[in-house]
Amino acid sequence: MTVLILGGTAEARALASALADGGIAVVTSLAGRTCDPALPTGAVRTGGFGGAAGLASWLRAHPVAAVIDATHPFAATMTAHAAEACAAAGVPLLRLERPSWRAHPDAPAWRWVADHAEAAAVASELDDRILLTVGRQQVGRYERLVDRPVLVRVAEASATPLPPAWTLLVDRGPFAPAAERALFARHGVRVVVTKDAGGGHTAAKLDAARETGATVVVVARPLPPAGLTLVADVPAAVSWVTASTRPPGR
Ligand code: NAP
Repeated sequence: MTVLILGGTAEARALASALADGGIAVVTSLAGRTCDPALPTGAVRTGGFGGAAGLASWLRAHPVAAVIDATHPFAATMTAHAAEACAAAGVPLLRLERPSWRAHPDAPAWRWVADHAEAAAVASELDDRILLTVGRQQVGRYERLVDRPVLVRVAEASATPLPPAWTLLVDRGPFAPAAERALFARHGVRVVVTKDAGGGHTAAKLDAARETGATVVVVARPLPPAGLTLVADVPAAVSWVTASTRPPGR
């Protein structure tokens, strides 16, 4: 019995280890966008499946007992494809998604926006130094800030050059509170633009923003497909695998 994990996150790697420790074979699927990805325990396959139909074919061709979609909260296309493909192939699907920052004590004070276009519009009205932490693939959506002093932090540099007024910082995290405070002081950060990634890995910037009075602009998460079974942590995902792959009558 093999479990397919749709990965690319720290949670997916933790889940692969936990299932392997419990004697369950796993294959983790990575999109293949990162040059030097952190690799999980167990087998790894890399690259897109070719849409929902491609993933459904892959599931029919491999002895997969269950799929866990542990992709990033903003990997909405993969999540939609997983729901469609698992329904078509008759394979149980679980979504493992780290909790949103909506529950953070400062969340009511943040500027919540629907998408990157709105985040860029809001940030352009704030006449201050901006820390942009929205992921490498989304940086291009902030071109209206081209003349503004923007500090762009990404896990991996993009081949596309940034505007001359911008400063690139390549760092993967996790980010410690003291280091974030120092970064805010060094660059005079007054605005943080982020997406609702959730979890603790990159949350220290939110505390640094509160301490320094910086404005936080947060892009809300995409809505998950209707009817998805969802858990928020690795132990719950392991329990679901155990229950959903148990032979009948046991
Ligand atoms: P996406 O927009 O939801 O998916 C775009 C396409 O990439 C999918 O249609 C699929 O291609 C392929 N893909 C995505 N995740 C895959 C996976 N785990 N295995 C195989 N193919 C995958 O995805 P994304 O936002 O670009 O994210 C790509 C990867 O980076 C994911 O593994 C995600 O967990 C990770 N990641 C994303 C973010 C983020 O902010 N979006 C942040 C950190 C990590 P086909 O249609 O050909 O199957």
